[in-house]
Amino acid sequence: MPARPWRYPKGMREAVYQRDNHACRIRLPGCTGTPTDLDHIVPVKDGGMTSMDNLRAACHECNQARANGGPRRAYTPPERW
Ligand SMILES: [Zn+2]
Repeated sequence: MPARPWRYPKGMREAVYQRDNHACRIRLPGCTGTPTDLDHIVPVKDGGMTSMDNLRAACHECNQARANGGPRRAYTPPERW
């Protein structure tokens, strides 16, 4: 059964947020610190699982930055444009 990257079992989001103390765990420049998303630590395309072990709390800014090329790529927060 193929994993669907942005579909989580009910309750998983809250469980990950609680484990991560309701703080974004990626912390890229521009991070708001408030998690609104979940991030796959090992990307689904690289075989990562949608499981508690492979998910972490992420704010929208960090998640977008990662989706647009990963944490090593320079990221300019939109509010500075
Ligand atoms: Zn963040």
